[in-house]
Amino acid sequence: MNQPNEHHEQARHPEWMTDLVQVLNAPGYERWRSMVAGTGGCANPIHLAGESAIVNTDTGEILHHYRTADEPSGHLLVACGNRRASVCTSCSEVYRADTFHLIRAGLSGGKGIPETVSAHPRAFVTLTAPSFGPVHTRREKNGAVRACRPRNRDKICEHGHPVGCHARHEPKDERLGQPICGDCYDYVGAVLWQAHAGALWHRFTLEVRRTLAAEAGLSRMAFGKQVRVSFAKVAEYQRRGLVHFHAIIRLDGPEGGSQPPPDWADHRLLTRAIPPAVQRITVTSPLSDLGRWDLVWGDQLDIRPILLDSSADGLSERAVAGYIAKYATKGAEASGTVDHRLSCPACGGRGRLRLMASCERCHGTGLKPGLHLDSLPVTEHARRMIRTCWELGARPEFAALRLRPWSHMLGFRGHFSSKSRRYSTTLGDLRQVRAVHRATQTRERHGLPALADETTLVLGHWRFAGMGYTPGEAIMAEHIRHRVSQARAIAAKREDG
Ligand SMILES: [Zn+2]
Ligand SMILES: [Zn+2]
Ligand SMILES: [Zn+2]
Ligand SMILES: [Zn+2]
Repeated sequence: MNQPNEHHEQARHPEWMTDLVQVLNAPGYERWRSMVAGTGGCANPIHLAGESAIVNTDTGEILHHYRTADEPSGHLLVACGNRRASVCTSCSEVYRADTFHLIRAGLSGGKGIPETVSAHPRAFVTLTAPSFGPVHTRREKNGAVRACRPRNRDKICEHGHPVGCHARHEPKDERLGQPICGDCYDYVGAVLWQAHAGALWHRFTLEVRRTLAAEAGLSRMAFGKQVRVSFAKVAEYQRRGLVHFHAIIRLDGPEGGSQPPPDWADHRLLTRAIPPAVQRITVTSPLSDLGRWDLVWGDQLDIRPILLDSSADGLSERAVAGYIAKYATKGAEASGTVDHRLSCPACGGRGRLRLMASCERCHGTGLKPGLHLDSLPVTEHARRMIRTCWELGARPEFAALRLRPWSHMLGFRGHFSSKSRRYSTTLGDLRQVRAVHRATQTRERHGLPALADETTLVLGHWRFAGMGYTPGEAIMAEHIRHRVSQARAIAAKREDG
């Protein structure tokens, strides 16, 4: 009886609990709570110290003065704004909602885009990576799970591993996406492909305009005068560590989303033009004594029309906007890697500073101090991708690919989501609308003139004073986030209904 009790005694007041009691009893708790609610319950808020003043430019009178020195905590909390759900649930939720509205506006209208945009030809396209060797796969046919890779059981590769796998993998099986034989797998090709995924995408946007013109029987220039092609895309990591791109492609008149394209630029033209564009693209890797890789898109190509409402072969506008927004908040963690940089912040992974002096921070390894690639909490496959990034990153011919700073992304350094200028509104505009709304509320509270009034000026200076929470604060912040997200869900339902 004694021993378990002793354990209990120690566990009764862990550090976070003592801290939590302090947080709740601090005199500034109410104010702290409202600041955290103001960030939406951000998991890692930025602490700012400083002051701001609203000044009447005619009279010089200070209408309102705010100093963080007057706050109980001495600083102001600002949301971290991180896009990834694995880093900050609250900020990623804001990002997801913004992305949803942005994508939806480009499909259904709104936020400055007319509703007639719904009638423009649009397709939802998934571009994939090619194979760099067989990986464990969950295969289903007619609702039944099949063997992963049925081969003769006696057949082995040159490394002594069976070339097949007879397992019927469960959806959560950790082997999924991992190579059948890691030594047979072309890691160099996989990393080089990933490092060029952005270039492949760029080439695709050019090539599809060319094939659209060819299908329409026009010169590239004549086509461009009558049709504008808009794109919105998002990258999604597969379990095998390579990205897919999900993209919306839309045909507009020369003015963009506010103008319909000519009648001949229809759905059929769009879906006919995509496959030849995908097949024609090859990006060749930089010259190296390791060899040259002709980098292409994978054979799997999915093209679906986007319809007003979902039907058998198409997707609804709402579903597409939902997919893109969800992918936009995912990072590379789905492929079993880490969500932070591995390279030394002082030398960017090069191990050397200017004038070729060895970097003192990392002692020339290029790794973030304290990190070892062997002990990273990642899957074996992710580790080999990272290691390949690290090794290739040391070669001058691949310097431009910046493989070491992007090794945690397994070589991908492109944008997670991007869109062409005319697609719809921007995330920046959506943020601006929110900021103006908040500023207006603050002004109303203080009886100040509206923001559009040019007779007032906001002056301020701020400095960074830290980030994050103490263990007790983090527990309360999570409670607050929960409340805020419930309130948001209710508000969103009202907006929809
Ligand atoms: Zn945040
Ligand atoms: Zn398998
Ligand atoms: Zn092998
Ligand atoms: Zn360094």
